[in-house]
Amino acid sequence: MSKDVFVFIEQRDNVLQKVGIELLGKARELADDLGQNVVAMLLGENIKDEAKVLISHGADRVIYVEDPMLKEYATEPYAKATYEIIKDNDPEIVIYGATSIGRDLAPRLAARIHTGLTADCTKLEIDPESKNLLMTRPAFGGNLMATILCEDFRPQMATVRPGVMQSLDNDASRKGEIVEKKVEFKPEDMNIKIREILKIESKKKDITEANILVSGGRGMGGPEGFQPLEKLAKVLGAEVSSSRAAVDAGWITKDHQVGQTGKTVRPEVYFAMGISGAIQHLAGMEESDLIIAVNKTEDAPIFGVADLGIVGDVNAIVPKLTDAIEKE
Ligand code: FAD
Repeated sequence: MSKDVFVFIEQRDNVLQKVGIELLGKARELADDLGQNVVAMLLGENIKDEAKVLISHGADRVIYVEDPMLKEYATEPYAKATYEIIKDNDPEIVIYGATSIGRDLAPRLAARIHTGLTADCTKLEIDPESKNLLMTRPAFGGNLMATILCEDFRPQMATVRPGVMQSLDNDASRKGEIVEKKVEFKPEDMNIKIREILKIESKKKDITEANILVSGGRGMGGPEGFQPLEKLAKVLGAEVSSSRAAVDAGWITKDHQVGQTGKTVRPEVYFAMGISGAIQHLAGMEESDLIIAVNKTEDAPIFGVADLGIVGDVNAIVPKLTDAIEKE
C-alpha cells in the first residue's frame, strides 16, 4: 500500500486552480520528509491534458477520472470518485484547498473513510519523531493557533487555506506517471441537477491572485480615504486590500481583509498604507516579495517587516505616488 501524500486538484472549466498547485508544493515537502510520493487526484471531463502540468509542479503520479458527470463540481460524483481512489491507494495524507469545493468535499470523504479532518490549516509539517502530520490552524476566532494530530486513523486529512503554501516552479523536466482510474457512474450518483451556471463578471481579481496589492488601514481616515488607493491601484495594475480595522469600520468589504482572520497573500509587491503592522495583519502578508510601508509614526511595527519605508502622511504621499507613476 502506498502511504503517499495525496492532493485533491481543483479545476473549473478545465482550468487548474492555483490552490491545487500550491498544495503540490507543500505535499512535495511532506512526502520528501516521509520518503514517499506525491499523488495528484484530478477529476473532470476531458481533463487528461492537464495532468502533465501537475507533474511539472511536483506530482510523482497523477490519477485522473474522466466522466461527463464530473464536468462541473457536484458533491456526490466527486465524493464517489475520490473515495474510490483513496480506498484503492491507502494514502498517508490527503490535502484539499479550504475553498467552497474543498470545504464541501473533504468532510464528506472523512466521514465515509472514518478518519478525522482538520479544516482551514495555515501550516502543515511532519513531526520528525512520530512521523505524524502536525496540522496547525487558527482557533477561537484567531486568538490562538492550535496544532492538531490525527494519531489513530488514516489517512490524515486537512483543508488548507489558499495562498498560504508556496508552489514549486514549473519544471517540464520533472518525470511522473499519469494513470487513469475508471469509475462507473450510475444516474443515481448525481442527486442534483445543474440548471444554469451564473458567472459573476468582475474586473476585480481576488486579492490572493493579485501580483500587486495596495492595502489600506485605519490611517486612511475613512471610506473616502480608499478612493486615492483605488486610483493608485489602477495605475499600478494592482488590487486594493485592507487591514481588519478598515473592514470593521465598514470602509471596505471583508473579502478585502488581509491577515489571520482574513486572507493570506503573497504578492510581488505589497503596499501597506496607514497600517500599523499588528501581528495578526503581518500573519497574512509578511511573505510578500517586496513590502512598501507608508506610516506617519516612525516606530510603527510595519517598518520592522518593510523593505522600503516612508514616514509621512498617506493623504500627501498616495496622490504624489500616483501622479509620479502615471507620468512614467
Ligand atoms: P491601527 O493599528 O489603528 O493603525 C493605523 C496606523 O495608521 C497607525 O500606525 C498610524 O500611525 C497610521 N496612520 C494614521 N494616520 C495616518 C496618516 N494620515 N498617514 C500615515 N499613517 C497614518 N487585523 C488585520 O489586519 N487582519 C486580521 O486578519 C486580523 N485578525 C485579528 C484576529 C484577532 C483574534 C484579533 C484580536 C485581532 C485581529 N486583527 C486583525 C486586528 C489587529 O490586531 C489590529 O487591530 C489591526 O490590524 C489594526 O489595523 P490598522 O493597522 O489598520 O489600524
